[in-house]
Amino acid sequence: MAENLMNKLKILADSAKFDVSCSSSGSSGEGTGKMGSTHMAGICHSWSADGRCISLLKILFTNNCVYDCAYCVNRRSAQTERASFEPEELARLTMEFYRRNYIEGLFISSAVEVSPDHTGERILACLDLLRNQYGFAGYIHAKLIPGMSAELIHQIGLRADRLSINIELPTEEGLKRLAPQKQLQSILKPMNQITNTMMEQKTLKAPGHMHPLMDPSVSQTTALDLSGSRRRFAPAGQTTQMIIGATGETDQQIIHTSEKLYHRFVMKRVYYSAYIPVSSSSLLPSALTAPPLMREHRLYQADWLLRFYGFTAEEILPSEHPDLELEMDPKAAWALRHLEHFPIEVNKASLEELLRIPGVGEVSARRILRQRRVASVKAEDLKRMGVVMKRAKYFLTCQGKYYGGKDLVENTIRGQILMEERLRYRLTGGEDQQQLSLFSGSGNWIPESYETGREGRAWPSIAMTEPSKGS
Ligand code: SF4
Repeated sequence: MAENLMNKLKILADSAKFDVSCSSSGSSGEGTGKMGSTHMAGICHSWSADGRCISLLKILFTNNCVYDCAYCVNRRSAQTERASFEPEELARLTMEFYRRNYIEGLFISSAVEVSPDHTGERILACLDLLRNQYGFAGYIHAKLIPGMSAELIHQIGLRADRLSINIELPTEEGLKRLAPQKQLQSILKPMNQITNTMMEQKTLKAPGHMHPLMDPSVSQTTALDLSGSRRRFAPAGQTTQMIIGATGETDQQIIHTSEKLYHRFVMKRVYYSAYIPVSSSSLLPSALTAPPLMREHRLYQADWLLRFYGFTAEEILPSEHPDLELEMDPKAAWALRHLEHFPIEVNKASLEELLRIPGVGEVSARRILRQRRVASVKAEDLKRMGVVMKRAKYFLTCQGKYYGGKDLVENTIRGQILMEERLRYRLTGGEDQQQLSLFSGSGNWIPESYETGREGRAWPSIAMTEPSKGS
């Protein structure tokens, strides 16, 4: 590979590695000169729709940015090495990596070079080469830039599997302070466009639906594209991410924003990225010396409750509790505030009620329901079904028997749960304080730039981070 291209690859893979939508290129493995290194070339992992783990080339198209977001290593005023690909260069590089089996797809993000449309056109040219000239059928996740024209977004969406546009910060006020060149409307508008196009596409696919060009409810652009289209628009949906801890929002504001994003834009995921103190800007919190990773972890747990457990943001964080407890997961914290609903008899409860029991996950709740169709569930069955009895015993009865000690008293249960948490923390050597990662075996989870104290973009967290489903 030409030296110049190798240098671009190094700079632009390095600049992209803290984006939370992809993950393991932040790891520092054995590295140079050995087979299988994911470090140098910015290879990360993601999950395909069918649940396979796939490797992606995670790269910025350019880090030559005209914007000056206070939290970002690529901001205009930062002293960092700059580079930009030509569309042809990145398309060929992707194909080379693909042919050699290094990657199965591409995650492409970008700084704003000249203008959002200028950058968007170059990204589109690259994706067009990949799809239409080189016949690349692998996975592509493209990150959009606020302010891009609707037509560019549409064309990129017809070539990418997943689209994302960063909400950046939980409130408009935070955005104005730290990223003044980005307007909230220029972020929400493309999100809305993506949602509408996906919905139209879904309607058109419904059995017996009229031809797209005949349907008055479908925009002409979508109808024309879809009537003769080879590819669907963003078939893997859209995601977004926000930085946590760079501005003073409460967890309540963050989770309320996420709830709106899920409802309004049918997001696949909202990613939370604990802010790394990288800049001396007076706009950024000076007291932070480390990224608030436990807070980020609790937010992912709260997000999980929103998406899979039927909780509302208001239930998780009512106005009298604006922040998540760092020492306790949000489901247990909610249950302790609502002991009037407990204990719940597992042989009588509905799915919704079972899902409210701390220690009972979605899978175990469904197993309980299945078992009940044939026979009553016994206490000894619960662990086998995946119920975490150490946690759940305070909140359930099984065949009328309570296993949580003498009384259902908030302070007693809280004390017991916290004691168990601390014990677990000691036994695991504190690893619960770290980012949970599906790739924890693949290397150090701490972004290299954070370890070395170099400036790094404020996307420290490892993507695909999730709390365990069984909480
Ligand atoms: S966050 Fe994006 S737009 Fe803002 S400075 Fe960084 S690269 Fe540029």
